[in-house]
Amino acid sequence: MEELIGQAAEIIMNSKFTMALTGAGISVESGIPDFRSADGLWSKFDPAEYASIYSFRAKPEMVWEMLREMDKVVSQARPNKAHLGMGKLEKMGYLHCIITQNIDNLHQMGGAKNVIEYHGNSSTLSCLWCGKKYKSEEKRDEYPPRCECQKILKPDVVFFGEAIPEYALNRSFQLASSAQALMVVGTSAVVSPVNTIPAIARQNGAKIIEINTERTHLTDTVTDIFLQGGAGKVISDLVEAVKGNEKN
Ligand code: NAD
Repeated sequence: MEELIGQAAEIIMNSKFTMALTGAGISVESGIPDFRSADGLWSKFDPAEYASIYSFRAKPEMVWEMLREMDKVVSQARPNKAHLGMGKLEKMGYLHCIITQNIDNLHQMGGAKNVIEYHGNSSTLSCLWCGKKYKSEEKRDEYPPRCECQKILKPDVVFFGEAIPEYALNRSFQLASSAQALMVVGTSAVVSPVNTIPAIARQNGAKIIEINTERTHLTDTVTDIFLQGGAGKVISDLVEAVKGNEKN
């Protein structure tokens, strides 16, 4: 493992443009369950049913049962060693952009500035009917939160069946085409179209470093270096290896 971490550190340090693609797994150590966690939120609420725009349109009160519980978990979560480590790598000039599928704001809280939120962010709510926007904070005591037009508000996260925000979609593909290294952290890479980013980066010559507790379909297809383990420990070790190389 130490050798693999050393090789990954070298790739990152030799790359002129390094980006990261992160998924729910990076926030598991912050207490937010991923879709694969056996217990927690998603054992109670099937994401296919509760995280779909069709369900929201038909039964917003039902979807808000899940959103309220998710909000409790996300609002208490703090960045873990993986978010902080990636923030450090950005500050050191070795990580240039993070594309995250997460809606929990933890990369920004962990110090990263160049973050593209592919699936939106839960800190604002919008009215699908009149378009008015609110900060989630100001509606926290209302359940379900309503717009001044009395319709139920929707968090500005991308539900299954919804389009990806245009800027995130276009910018991510552009960046993936110019990356020399890509860190893929804590994602099963099954949600499309974001899961095409590793292959696009690879086709354009990027080295792919995958960090995950388990192998994924990427591991044997596009990944160059697979660092198996919890993101917190692996990324901390990677940051230390980069710092060590800097001294030499
Ligand atoms: P996923 O649940 O499909 O996969 C998570 C991956 O992370 C798995 O491959 C798992 O092995 C790995 N993992 C779990 N714990 C880990 C750890 N400690 N360190 C490293 N890897 C770990 O998640 P996905 O691929 O991101 O796709 C699900 C969709 O749901 C995405 O849009 C995602 O952002 C969203 N979602 C977001 C949050 C959040 O904002 N924190 C939480 C749940 C789901």
